[in-house]
Amino acid sequence: MRIDVAELLKEIGRTSSLKEEINPSYKEEGLNLQEPVKIKIRLLNTGSGILLTGTLDTKIATECVRCLKKFTIPLHVELDEEFMRKNKGIRPHGGEIQLTEKDFVFALEDEHILDLEEVIRENLVMALPLKPVCSKACPPVLAGPPAGKACKGVKGDPRWQKLKGIVKKKGE
Ligand SMILES: [Zn+2]
Repeated sequence: MRIDVAELLKEIGRTSSLKEEINPSYKEEGLNLQEPVKIKIRLLNTGSGILLTGTLDTKIATECVRCLKKFTIPLHVELDEEFMRKNKGIRPHGGEIQLTEKDFVFALEDEHILDLEEVIRENLVMALPLKPVCSKACPPVLAGPPAGKACKGVKGDPRWQKLKGIVKKKGE
């Protein structure tokens, strides 16, 4: 998915938004898409590059790590990425731009084409749950009294303790 951002780059502060559905294949990444990826993005020319915000929504088929049942889960991703302009970045005080680990920075090609493929793939792969579970109750809880109640039965009701003493005396 490539976007021409030549118009956007003409003026700092300029924005554009985009809605699209794509049908990529991420089988190799372990993503089994069940429906197209709905993309909603907003682009902002920050001067040093282009800030991309928006959302990705799709559904994937996965397998429960507990019962191995196949099930489908929705995948929702909040996008927050920055595309830096090659060789044209603003360098405050002449230094390098400090990038935090959280930021993914993609080089903006000189021909003003923004390639969103990597952004979309990386974000979907990161949103994938590591240990998907089909439901909170999986695996099913074994039938029987809750642990707390079982404990009370063993200790006995304190009101019966006196009576137990009387029975004991009589038995002697
Ligand atoms: Zn399960």
